[in-house]
Amino acid sequence: MDIGILGGGIAGLSMALALRKQGYNPSVYERRAGPATSGAGVTLWPNACFVLEALGVLHDIQAMGGRPLAVHRQDAAGNSLGGLDIGLLDRAMGYPTCTVLRRDLQAVLLNHAVKAGVAVAFGRRALGIELGGHGRAVAHFEQGPSIRPDLLIGADGRMASVARTFVAGDNTPIYQGFVNWIGVAQGPHALVSDISIRDFWGAGERFGCVAVRPDLVYWAAAQARPLSDPMPGRQGRNEVQRLFAQWPEPISRVIRATPEEAIRLIAVHDLEPLHTWSRANVLLVGDAAHAPLPTSGQGACQALEDAWHLARCLKGARGGLEEAFQTFAHLRAPKTARLAEQGRVFARGLFATDPETCRLRNARAKASDPARDVQALAAAWGQGLPLPLGAASAAVAGSGLGSLYHTE
Ligand SMILES: Cc1cc2nc3c(=O)[nH]c(=O)nc-3n(C[C@H](O)[C@H](O)[C@H](O)COP(=O)(O)OP(=O)(O)OC[C@H]3O[C@@H](n4cnc5c(N)ncnc54)[C@H](O)[C@@H]3O)c2cc1C
Repeated sequence: MDIGILGGGIAGLSMALALRKQGYNPSVYERRAGPATSGAGVTLWPNACFVLEALGVLHDIQAMGGRPLAVHRQDAAGNSLGGLDIGLLDRAMGYPTCTVLRRDLQAVLLNHAVKAGVAVAFGRRALGIELGGHGRAVAHFEQGPSIRPDLLIGADGRMASVARTFVAGDNTPIYQGFVNWIGVAQGPHALVSDISIRDFWGAGERFGCVAVRPDLVYWAAAQARPLSDPMPGRQGRNEVQRLFAQWPEPISRVIRATPEEAIRLIAVHDLEPLHTWSRANVLLVGDAAHAPLPTSGQGACQALEDAWHLARCLKGARGGLEEAFQTFAHLRAPKTARLAEQGRVFARGLFATDPETCRLRNARAKASDPARDVQALAAAWGQGLPLPLGAASAAVAGSGLGSLYHTE
């Protein structure tokens, strides 16, 4: 079967690797001129590391990444709001958590895909997809010939997916009321004392610092901002410094250690869940199918899960593509829709500006039961995967996530 994949991001490359492992010969078409060099970092929770292990790349990613053992939450004055025992979560799910720079994750996936014989074509921006003869889709590119594979996988992200436009007739990302500045800080010396995730909550503002190594920390500074307000200017570092000047360390230290050109501003959008992820022989995966907010912590993890599931669905389907698409959507839609909704709920609490709402949110986070939070996350994130102990937490799954997400 001839398989074309639009987009060489996390979804596209992991999908190519998973399909290669099942004996298929996919080709990837990526609009960038070369390998990814931008972006900050990604936390790969145990469900993602399960997939990375199955793809044979976990070892290489761990070699470039960090092994965080805790999330520490604080308010803007430095008071503790509890946290998450990541070591306990890892044990409950049977796989590690890994923090890694996005470019390193992409590089490992690309190297393994190329070594496995996947053809990755850069400089191939898809312009549109149309239905050709025999009900088969044809993808057209800005440069180079059109393609007409047996299966076309749309892994072209959340903001302007041509595959989603073909499948759903429209692609309208939804601005969710906050912007993110993202950056990577690298110091000659340690910027933080340990490998952990530090999450600071204010009123309408949030700062997250994620250590890969003590001297390598990626971060996201977020601020609630209506779309009608002018977007912040290009002088990202000064603006972030000013906004978070009074917040606890290591925030100022980390911002100072970030070169201006390594800071990027993102107006954060997500997508409404779709009723269907396929049309003709085109299937959506990753953000093109189900982009959650970064507050879900699961966008890349779910893109990786897609790869693992789809390769199995294709192999197992005797009824051809239609059956494989249906099985895939049946497996993936409920989990991804739930996570997207939780990301929105969490964001509404995080970016609340009303002092009383923030006080209640913080009190709830502080009073949360860390063991129950771990169980709830293990059950939610492990759902649908054969994790060693995932089933042990299933009893909590129905009750929704723990206090981490109870922010309203
Ligand atoms: C600030 C921030 C922090 C995040 N942190 C985390 C985290 O800690 N953990 C986590 O699990 N998730 C995280 N996410 C979410 C995660 O980054 C995404 O869910 C993930 O990148 C989705 O992968 P993807 O391959 O579907 O999309 P993308 O990574 O966007 O890749 C899409 C690819 O398609 C290419 N493309 C686009 N259009 C075309 C076209 N027309 N033709 C050809 N190629 C095209 C793009 O160049 C790109 O390479 C975060 C997101 C943000 C914004």
